[in-house]
Amino acid sequence: MKALVKDIDGIGLTLREVEKPTIQANEVLIKIKSTAICGTDLHIWNWDAWASSTIKIPMTVGHEFMGEIEEIGENVENLSVGMRVSAEGHIAGSNSRNAKAGKLHLDPDTVNLGVDREGAFAEYLMMPASNVVALPESVSNEVGSILDPFGNAVHATLSFDLVGEDVLITGAGPIGIMSAAIAEHVGARNVLISDINDERLKLAQKVCNAETFNPTKENLKEKMKSMGLKEGFDIGLEMSGSEAALDQMVDAMIMGGKVALLGIPPEKINFDLSKVIFKALTLKAIYGREVFETWYKGLALLDSGLDIKNIITHTFHYTEFEEAFNLLNSGKAGKVVLNWH
Ligand SMILES: [Zn+2]
Repeated sequence: MKALVKDIDGIGLTLREVEKPTIQANEVLIKIKSTAICGTDLHIWNWDAWASSTIKIPMTVGHEFMGEIEEIGENVENLSVGMRVSAEGHIAGSNSRNAKAGKLHLDPDTVNLGVDREGAFAEYLMMPASNVVALPESVSNEVGSILDPFGNAVHATLSFDLVGEDVLITGAGPIGIMSAAIAEHVGARNVLISDINDERLKLAQKVCNAETFNPTKENLKEKMKSMGLKEGFDIGLEMSGSEAALDQMVDAMIMGGKVALLGIPPEKINFDLSKVIFKALTLKAIYGREVFETWYKGLALLDSGLDIKNIITHTFHYTEFEEAFNLLNSGKAGKVVLNWH
């Protein structure tokens, strides 16, 4: 079968023939229909310090996908051939304290699809049946392929009670924008999303009704005044990993406000912790999804009318992968989908 493989110690991926996976009793074989390119895949494409020290080549990459079940192992229940599915790409172990307590998202032995084991940018993928999530007919193939990053947004955004609250989101990448849409959908009062890239703010306006803000061009205090905010934002979602954005967020929070941190700084940052203490802020780090609870909530939000499809700006056939990765590297795209069958 065809797969996109990291097989060179340098930039890029290779489209090449690899062996079609076979399955064990508790696994399923999925015929891949749609995949989406994640920031992680871009790091692997660009072969930065993180990627080159993490990925053991050769490795089929990709973890955001949907497809159709082609074959099921003999022990698999509740799944059948032909079902449309996606899957949780963090494959937890079963021995740690957290895994035994059912907190799969906190298991230190977790293995990541497309990073530590053969990924989804291929014609077929083998997955443990327990990680597979069935998709309702109402979820299109394209939207089905972005449920993993949507799950990051769901996890971060639903971390705190947003009803009637004023929310600041720093970073208008796909996860930040989907978070803005979720915050509005669940009843936040004001939602402001900031980015230094106007293209991203324009994309945000196509996906949600949040106010947008470019900190290199506007003054945040004035923007807050124009929105009727007196004491600061109640909830902050830091999605950029930028030191400047985090500083600005801490300054703009109300006393006792709550901040979820999802953006990963590229290196150690300078951060004024005393401000967090004197403002009595709560900080919560977000990594991945709270696994199946997040998948449940995410699908329920879509079922209740949340519309995220406009975050997908480009769709390519998998053979056009070079164009797709170059486009993402240029910063001029939201989610980019590769179709396989
Ligand atoms: Zn991802």
